[in-house]
Amino acid sequence: MASKPTPRLNPRGGDRRGQRPLTPRPSSSLWYGLAFLLLLGLAQMYYLTPSGRTIPYSEFKELVKQGQIAEATIGDQVIRGTLKQDQDNKGRQFQTTRVEDPKLAEELEAKGVKYTGEAVNRWLPDLLGWIVPLVFFIGIWGFFFRRMSGAEGGVMSFARSRAKIYADDEVKVRFSDVAGVDEAEEELKEIVEFLKNPKKYTNLGGRIPKGVLLVGPPGTGKTLLARAVAGEAHVPFFSLSGSEFVEMFVGVGAARIRDLFQQAEAKAPCIVFIDELDALGKVRVQSPIGSHEEREQTLNQLLAEMDGFDSRKGVIIMGATNRPEVLDPALLRPGRFDRQVLVDKPDVKGREEILRIHVKGVKVSSNVDLKIVAARTAGFAGADLANLVNEAALLAARNDKTSVDMKDFESAIDRLVAGLEKKRVMSVKEREIVAYHESGHAIVATVLPGLDPVHKISIVQRGFGALGYTMQLPLEDRYLMQRRDLESQLAVLLGGRTAEEIALGEISTGAQNDLQRATDIARAMVTEFGMSDALGAINYDGNKRARFLDLPIPQERGLYGEETAEKIDAEIKRILTEAHVKARQILSDHRDKLESITRRLLEVEVMEGDELRQLLGLAPTTS
Ligand code: ADP
Ligand code: MG
Ligand code: ZN
Repeated sequence: MASKPTPRLNPRGGDRRGQRPLTPRPSSSLWYGLAFLLLLGLAQMYYLTPSGRTIPYSEFKELVKQGQIAEATIGDQVIRGTLKQDQDNKGRQFQTTRVEDPKLAEELEAKGVKYTGEAVNRWLPDLLGWIVPLVFFIGIWGFFFRRMSGAEGGVMSFARSRAKIYADDEVKVRFSDVAGVDEAEEELKEIVEFLKNPKKYTNLGGRIPKGVLLVGPPGTGKTLLARAVAGEAHVPFFSLSGSEFVEMFVGVGAARIRDLFQQAEAKAPCIVFIDELDALGKVRVQSPIGSHEEREQTLNQLLAEMDGFDSRKGVIIMGATNRPEVLDPALLRPGRFDRQVLVDKPDVKGREEILRIHVKGVKVSSNVDLKIVAARTAGFAGADLANLVNEAALLAARNDKTSVDMKDFESAIDRLVAGLEKKRVMSVKEREIVAYHESGHAIVATVLPGLDPVHKISIVQRGFGALGYTMQLPLEDRYLMQRRDLESQLAVLLGGRTAEEIALGEISTGAQNDLQRATDIARAMVTEFGMSDALGAINYDGNKRARFLDLPIPQERGLYGEETAEKIDAEIKRILTEAHVKARQILSDHRDKLESITRRLLEVEVMEGDELRQLLGLAPTTS
């Protein structure tokens, strides 16, 4: 019997280790200050409030006359004194406000009262009255000032970077803690090699990448990978987030960047990691309000530092973003973040490996098949899977089980899928549609001669819109395409939609982009390449293109009449219809293959071109 499972309440906790919170909490010194003020107030009350009963001056004079006063102290503003005996139990102490009365001394003397004056001693009331409040307000002001600057050492540390320096042994993450992103890992190994031994590379005169940008959907392990690079290379890791730079004082962020790079240079070889680069590196806009001035200054400083930086010193700048499309293009220029590494959502195999990593710290029952868990979690990113394991462990603990079993995993999946549905994870039905669609593209592309071989088919949902893709890689660069090639290309583009028609008897919105590209090609064939016999070899549109399939430079419509326009439309329609017929023919002929390839794709999610050709009974290409 195994002992109780050990749920980890916070799977991401390890990631955050050692990072300082953004703003310091209102520290206890504020409370000390308030307590001090309260004490002062009490003291002031004690010293300045009158003691004893206050009586009118006239009554005082009366008492003097009656000889009731034992002694009196004549102060600047008040006269305090003691009576000879209690007056109706009201106590012997009294005081009265002093009235200008030159004869008072005489009268007191006449009655034999012991009396004395009081030196005007103002230091205590002065201190309590205004010096202390002043000091206090200066204190409050200083406190908030320090808070705003966000740094720990007060006003002077304005410019000091908040980057936390990780000592060599602090980064414990290794590549073995990351799974399902093999291609990214492969690319980053080179960086590790360089960081381990910069001299070996620079002696040969090799150019080392300066900036590496990790791009991918949230939770796929970008931050984890960056830390793993530092861990593998045993170098210091400077980590900070783009949002930290967005400060309220103009110039602070820029100063931080300058400071950070100075620190990094002193620590080389090392890694400077800027997480959430998009928060800092959004496209610079000309805003009339100028509200983004601070961010722009910071960004400009970063660009300047990256330019002025010699990567041979062994400092690698890494960035991470899940919104590459909003980044300022200047950041991506050569010499800056010129190398981009895609960190994508994992496929089935990747998911299984990630699960394997995360169940290490959990007591798992022997009936748990992580393969099945992986198969049921299409669309989950690494962070979602880590969360899933934790959730399952919590469920098991709640039910007082001794280990986490398959049932816990099942309920955890159900729970998380419901949550992720809002984040648009594909449903079973949608996955099937996408699988048929991509199989359609791939079969047509493989069966028709003269086309670039299919390199990969995938139904792993991309972070950036596409639901799946079929990737064709050219064997050689092409500078010319014949009419037949273009027609085949059209059939491939329409193959996805046609497969949906044949297999499901229904079409979806997923083919919109295909149709757009197909129509664009068909129009170009008619109006630019003179490939329509009905219209002849005339360029109607006058659009200029860099190469035949690049997007046209937008221009006004070409100069032709209504009648020609109708003819052009008719020709485009004819070309597309023929392509559709061709695709339908091919897919009907390979109906069984369409089925088997789709099933296989639903299973593995990513299929290499060679496996596809094998399933179609063709020889593998020598690419
Ligand atoms: P990102 O920075 O891409 O948003 P993180 O690196 O912060 O994602 O991932 C958060 C957590 O999710 C990690 O600390 C890790 O526990 C888990 N995780 C994410 N991706 C992976 C992966 N590929 N392999 C293993 N664990 C992962
Ligand atoms: Mg991150
Ligand atoms: Zn498509």
